[in-house]
Amino acid sequence: MQNDCQQKQIQDLEWYRNLIAEIVESIFCPKCHVADSICIKTFPESGKACDAIFMCKQCGTNFTYKEIIKLAIEKYLGSKIFNYKIPDFVMCPICNEESYAPGEHICYLCGNEKQLTCSICGQDIQLEDIPIWVKYKKCNECNKSQYNGNEQRQSHD
Ligand SMILES: [Zn+2]
Ligand SMILES: [Zn+2]
Ligand SMILES: [Zn+2]
Repeated sequence: MQNDCQQKQIQDLEWYRNLIAEIVESIFCPKCHVADSICIKTFPESGKACDAIFMCKQCGTNFTYKEIIKLAIEKYLGSKIFNYKIPDFVMCPICNEESYAPGEHICYLCGNEKQLTCSICGQDIQLEDIPIWVKYKKCNECNKSQYNGNEQRQSHD
């Protein structure tokens, strides 16, 4: 047992979502495969989880915030009943990691809370249109109108 863990708990850090802290507490260390072994090695002055350094108290492996978040996302995805239609995490437009939760409008890694928007018309992407956005970075309407561009539009007036 390594003893250079901080006395502070994972939950004492400031996370973008409390859910993340809960998942981090239960992560299996990828090196020694022991669960519930992550502790805080460096508790940052800011109190923010993204400035902390983490450590496995069993094997002493250090983890950056980014590494911890990736492990948390893997753990989360592995433990839930999968909804294949709408991905739980998509590429974050700010940090370019697969850590943006479209249902919650937050990136677990960089804290980006902006809605995903269509690259053509700029409107917010609806949850059901996330799979289209993932492929084309467009909303459903813009995606359809690209393919049906020459078809006659129905008038709604
Ligand atoms: Zn370990
Ligand atoms: Zn991000
Ligand atoms: Zn659009």
